[in-house]
Amino acid sequence: MQHRTQDTSYISTRGGMAPTGFLDVLLSGLAPDGGLAVPAAVPRITATTLEDWRPLSYPELAAEVIGLYATDIPAADLRALTAAAYGPERFPAPVVPLRPLDDVAEGLTLVGLSEGPTMAFKDLAMQFLGQAIPYTLSREGRVLNILGATSGDTGSAAEHAFRGRDGVSVFMLSPQGRMSDVQRAQMYSLADPNIHNIAVEGVFDDCQNLVKAINSDPAFKSRYAIGAVNSINFGRIAAQVVYYVWAWLRASDGVAGGDAAAGSGGGDSAIEPSSFRVDVAVPSGNFGNIYAGHLARTMGVPIRRLILATNENNVLDEFFSTGIYRPRSSVQTLATSSPSMDISKASNLERFVWTLLGPEEFQSRWPELERTGVLDLSDQQARLDEDYGFVSGTSTHADRLAAIRRVHEATGTPIDPHTADGVTVALRVMERGFPTLVLETARPEKFPETVAEALGAPRPVPEAIRRLLDAEQHVVDVPCDESRLRALIAADALRP
Ligand SMILES: *Cc1c(COP(=O)(O)O)cnc(C)c1O
Repeated sequence: MQHRTQDTSYISTRGGMAPTGFLDVLLSGLAPDGGLAVPAAVPRITATTLEDWRPLSYPELAAEVIGLYATDIPAADLRALTAAAYGPERFPAPVVPLRPLDDVAEGLTLVGLSEGPTMAFKDLAMQFLGQAIPYTLSREGRVLNILGATSGDTGSAAEHAFRGRDGVSVFMLSPQGRMSDVQRAQMYSLADPNIHNIAVEGVFDDCQNLVKAINSDPAFKSRYAIGAVNSINFGRIAAQVVYYVWAWLRASDGVAGGDAAAGSGGGDSAIEPSSFRVDVAVPSGNFGNIYAGHLARTMGVPIRRLILATNENNVLDEFFSTGIYRPRSSVQTLATSSPSMDISKASNLERFVWTLLGPEEFQSRWPELERTGVLDLSDQQARLDEDYGFVSGTSTHADRLAAIRRVHEATGTPIDPHTADGVTVALRVMERGFPTLVLETARPEKFPETVAEALGAPRPVPEAIRRLLDAEQHVVDVPCDESRLRALIAADALRP
């Protein structure tokens, strides 16, 4: 199967980067002009292509979809990379299962994105990077020291994706005592020599500031081949497009003249799968996950609406309901019970605003954000829904608990607090009976405290998690001090 028609190249939202290939974008963070890499043209797919893809397994589909973005990776190589990333060692088949929640609301379905090693959706993107980055490094005879800061899910997903991989080591800063027990154990239990856990005395912002300080020293960066795999990495976005295509295919299985419709007396009136549309609800923080959904919709996947759910840190709900983007300061960012959505600014939104305004208007209006701290696009507000299908809502702690209870009562199994934000907003805006997919961004076992608060009693701790919590922990405690961090990197970094 070969649906590539033309090469996809990448340019910067800020207009200052010559067209670049996927593999170069994969290894660089921000574009040289401070912007984000975006595909110069979004690849399109037809209804026929979607039907050709229907029989594929998840790893096979991933090679096809990512192949439209990574046109500089030979197709056979890409199939090997996705087979390794999404194989049975890391994800039980079918990788992304769909679970109907009709007992909660007719038409509601949960899309299981959290079956990977760290029980959160970030595994799906990071496991692809864990194959693709070593692949490109070895072709070029290079090494990479990945430096990052985490408040939980990103760091554990990155460490599990790169552990034991050749040519890469990971230095991950985390705030001492601020992660959940499971998040901490998923990281600190790793004994692989290329994984370095650094617990900083301070909060997440202190960790991030240390990373920024190192990154603003080009000489140190190149001497130690420092890189990043943060949420603005386009490789992560490309890998996330796959599950939107997969979820639509599985939701529309049997909708055609085939078995299910005919069996239920559909016969002549059976609708074609390509006219079968879905709404997708996405628990959102940095706008990375739902931006991939926006790309899938633009490519031609029949997605009607993208339902954006935020927690109390509702920068994005405010933007999609008023057109005004007003990032908060870190002081204004609340600590909530869906911590992986606690953001002060939504890093990936720049990519969407670039599309919304077009390159020229983007370059004249975006600087307003730097200048005033606010970007007023209220003149564009109607287009967010009409042209792009975005609707949004905010979920609070009480909503989250209620959604966990409601799903548990209807099905006997709870959902995690982030997914509960998605369910809350989906239930608020959904059209009863219309296929509405909620992305499950983490497993409930990863956030047991809030699940217990919702259900009134703790759930039994699964054996695998108990083992993790009891395992020997590998971590270095440091004060919030840049020179200590530099010394640690200098001592343990892989040398170019
Ligand atoms: C990272 C994360 C999110 C937010 O995803 P974005 O791509 O930043 O919008 C939501 N839920 C969970 C569990 C996460 O780990």
